[in-house]
Amino acid sequence: MARVAIVTGGTRGIGEAISLALKDMGISVAANYAGNDERAREFTERTGIPAYRWDVGDYEACQTGCARVAAELGDIDIVVNNAGITRDGTILNMSYEDWKAVIDTNLGGCFNMAKAVFPGMRARKWGRIVNIGSINGQAGQYGQVNYAAAKSGIHGFTKALAQEGARAGVTVNAIAPGYIDTDMVAAVPADVLEKIVARIPAGRLGQASEIARGVAFLCAEEGGFVTGSTLSINGGQHMY
Ligand code: NDP
Repeated sequence: MARVAIVTGGTRGIGEAISLALKDMGISVAANYAGNDERAREFTERTGIPAYRWDVGDYEACQTGCARVAAELGDIDIVVNNAGITRDGTILNMSYEDWKAVIDTNLGGCFNMAKAVFPGMRARKWGRIVNIGSINGQAGQYGQVNYAAAKSGIHGFTKALAQEGARAGVTVNAIAPGYIDTDMVAAVPADVLEKIVARIPAGRLGQASEIARGVAFLCAEEGGFVTGSTLSINGGQHMY
């Protein structure tokens, strides 16, 4: 039987590339998304991958969403916690709502999804959880205390949960992407983005497929001895 995977935020950007890479491995993929129904419909038509709408920041929605995927596709073996948002601003300008939305979605989503799938993975003695962090969670970033805190939290969450899963064959790893050419980065003002690219040793933005390749490696059968790791995929930016 094919393995079953859920990719949160799996219908566009990095998540879309991850959904496609896992499908290419023969995995049965469910792509979760937040609210862009039109994009999800187009994605499913084009790829054949079913899309499931729920808010990863909502604990109960993750429970019912994962139960629905399991009923329709089978027991969940792999979760890629990729869904993420930004609400940038300096702390002087950042509202409590902007802080909370980013923490609840980016970090809370990892907890909510793990609560839904980790017990089953442990019981079946096989699982893969990959959490998408960020270079800005490793290094911090001006105007992103909410996002940097959430992503940094993801890196700690990964190392802690990896210890709980190791004996039961459940690996938990993170990927820390640098700047990748998606809608999220398209929202960065052009002059700011120019300065960011100038600091990337590779001299360019990354492609979503380059992150997906790392996820595919961590989700493979042969990835089973890698756990609690963070893979930096950022064109060398982590060295500066
Ligand atoms: P996009 O903004 O292009 O796509 C975000 C995806 O997440 C969409 O599918 C969106 O659904 C979904 N989503 C957002 N909020 C929720 C929610 N509450 N519940 C379920 N799904 C949700 O993002 P990217 O592809 O650029 O980023 C993907 C991940 O990679 C994020 O975690 C991001 O922080 C991280 N990352 C990105 C970098 C980059 O340079 N792009 C760099 C480092 C990390 P919908 O389509 O319905 O809105």
